[in-house]
Amino acid sequence: MSSHWFRNGDVYTVDAANPWARSVVVLDERIAYVGDDEGAREHLRPDTVEVDLDGRFLMPGFVDGHDHLIGGGIGKLGVSLDGLVGKDAVIEQIRRYALDNPDLPVIRGHSWTPFQFGNGQRPHRTWLDPVTDVRPALMNSYDFHDGWANTAAFIAAGIDASTPDPNPPASFWPRDPDGFPSGCCCDGEAWMPIAAALGMFSLEAVKEAMQMTLFPAPSWGITTYFDASTVVRGALNDRVFQHLVDLDSAGELPVRIVASHALRDPEIPVEQSIERLRQLNNDFRSPNVSITTLKLFADGVGPQHTAAMLEPYADEPDNFGPFVFDTDAMSRHVLAANAAGFDVHIHACGDAGVRGGLDANEAAQRTLGRTGARNTICHLEFCNPADIPRFAELGVTANGTPIWGSDYRGEFLDAYPTLVGTERLERDFLPYGSVLRSGATLTFGGDCPGTEIHEIAPLKQIESAVTRQRPGRPDDRIASPHERMSLADAIRCYTVNGAYALRLEDEAGSITVGKQADLQVLATNPFRVASHEIHTIAVDATMLGGRFTHQR
Ligand SMILES: [Zn+2]
Repeated sequence: MSSHWFRNGDVYTVDAANPWARSVVVLDERIAYVGDDEGAREHLRPDTVEVDLDGRFLMPGFVDGHDHLIGGGIGKLGVSLDGLVGKDAVIEQIRRYALDNPDLPVIRGHSWTPFQFGNGQRPHRTWLDPVTDVRPALMNSYDFHDGWANTAAFIAAGIDASTPDPNPPASFWPRDPDGFPSGCCCDGEAWMPIAAALGMFSLEAVKEAMQMTLFPAPSWGITTYFDASTVVRGALNDRVFQHLVDLDSAGELPVRIVASHALRDPEIPVEQSIERLRQLNNDFRSPNVSITTLKLFADGVGPQHTAAMLEPYADEPDNFGPFVFDTDAMSRHVLAANAAGFDVHIHACGDAGVRGGLDANEAAQRTLGRTGARNTICHLEFCNPADIPRFAELGVTANGTPIWGSDYRGEFLDAYPTLVGTERLERDFLPYGSVLRSGATLTFGGDCPGTEIHEIAPLKQIESAVTRQRPGRPDDRIASPHERMSLADAIRCYTVNGAYALRLEDEAGSITVGKQADLQVLATNPFRVASHEIHTIAVDATMLGGRFTHQR
């Protein structure tokens, strides 16, 4: 093993008892000393390597509380449609990509939004057919919730007018008058069979995805992350977990991973799901890999009107949006998982979805009492103010992706008022500042592929939490200015709070004697730059449990 002495720096420990220091000594995988340079000397070993920080900033590694760094990159393979304005620009981009890649048997793409085509119009398969010809094509939406396929892709997957919708109204194919799917695949159950039929899910695809998202994670300062679903399923899912355990045994796993068993089908008996989680937890385990959590979906996402809402959508006055797991189903799963010693992580975008998730936790606690479970509700695209105090009361962690709480992609602040009106938007939209100030545990995560790969970088997310604008865009409109927070608070969300939510508070999240040496060196002290420059700060080095995982 090795030993390092980081000296002569601005050490920000995120340990409330001892927030600032100059020196840190690491012996093997743990922190042995935090204090001034002089006091460090008695902790050094003959083999200790001295690292002169030269005034740079040392802080704990980031804990990303919700991401998909294993398989999520699959949603970013192929042609990017990010940032294009209008249907013509999107189609032209795909046409060019298809032309430039004549040998690809399948045309893949990603990062379209329903806002891109004007009036929230859903894309049609016949827009793709002329530019992709006989080759099947599948384009994932920016958040990986939806797909857009051409006619050849539907045919390849054996889906036609007679195929029933996979899980309506949450997951379905909008239809042409003759009943054939028109092209959009609303939510995962609708596009995953197409992706599977086109051979897009394979261990090779996952490995390619990991090169884009998991292996660069230390270069963004990440040392631990919660995997909110590998994206792949069944036997392949097991092979992926085995691959992670093998990487860890070889000392090549770049980050510590706490993973989940993701459920999308509320019809599966709860006992069966808990048994499957128990199996995963038991079969795939190594020092830096554990599978401890049941992931549930309360609903879908706002832009597609699939988030479950307390009041109807402003532009569809009869539509409240569907639940995937309704409150009863969530209650059964939270109860069973917590009783078995596992945690639950609930996707909830609509304010009714969030309330259902909180109700499910309350119901489980009525039966079990406080079990010490670390349950989380993530996203909170909309949250009613009446529900905000309930997170702290129930001890439920809230998780968010701060960059969405901005005029994301230059589209959100035009599109969202159409969905819910300006009043509800101002009051309910990603209320991370309010949740934090309510005393709840708030954690942050990049949630790629719901964001672009470069946006996984926590310093970008932290900047948006502070400004409620896109990184480096001081002229952007501010999304609900009252939801901004201080830099210190945003850092807490990405460190100690994240560690707590993963039951790692004794091991990670702060620079504290006895904890794992999960550290990062930033080129500049973020407290000394303008808030719009936080994202420009370079991560010079990252250490996971005493081993360098990144050095610039
Ligand atoms: Zn996610």
